[in-house]
Amino acid sequence: METTLQSLVSHLSTLSCSGCGKQYSPFEKQTVSACCQLPLLAGYNLAKSLSKEVLQKREGTMWRYLEMLPVLHKENIVSLGEGYTPILTLNNLAKKYELRSLQLKDEGQNPTGSFKARGLSMAISKAKEHGVEGCIIPTAGNAGVAMAAYCAKAGMRATVVMPRHTPKAFRDECYWYGAEVVLVDGLINDCAARAKELNSAGELLDVSTLKEPYRIEGKKTMGYEIAEQAIGNCPT
Ligand SMILES: [Zn+2]
Repeated sequence: METTLQSLVSHLSTLSCSGCGKQYSPFEKQTVSACCQLPLLAGYNLAKSLSKEVLQKREGTMWRYLEMLPVLHKENIVSLGEGYTPILTLNNLAKKYELRSLQLKDEGQNPTGSFKARGLSMAISKAKEHGVEGCIIPTAGNAGVAMAAYCAKAGMRATVVMPRHTPKAFRDECYWYGAEVVLVDGLINDCAARAKELNSAGELLDVSTLKEPYRIEGKKTMGYEIAEQAIGNCPT
């Protein structure tokens, strides 16, 4: 599919090396920068603004900020309804610690039970957009479960590498989503080394934190939501 900036709903415009600023194509599959081996940061055309009125009518998921997210074509979005989690007011704890007000953004309400859903939904959506057929992740738990769930939704192969001592609930969830689970005697850094070995031919996309540019683009929606909810415009 030929991509022109005008044909897209996303305002994604650049990918830059976080070390030296060198530019990379936002239309091609990228991992870390070739120049510095550092994360690539997405940039957006901010001249095209998104009005508050338009935003208020949107669905209650992180995809309400579509223009400021990197997925170029809507049909590539792999969503399980992540984001737009509620902000709860914790009166009892506030009183106990003599705070004027205490609020909690309840990220446990995301699909797969943690904020990792945001980043993995985004990474797997972009992987789908680039025609990726399988992903791999070293994990201590939550991120592996999230990747397995989104890969299942996308019909992609998933390999999760986790320490053998990871709680059974995380392992079971990965199995249930159809992921290949590799257990390692060691910690998360040993899992990262094993994942590298397993993927030495590079046939899987490594979606470790900051190894591809887009998980962080999912996580940033927490900030957008807090800003929007804090000014009293959250949908009911
Ligand atoms: Zn660089």
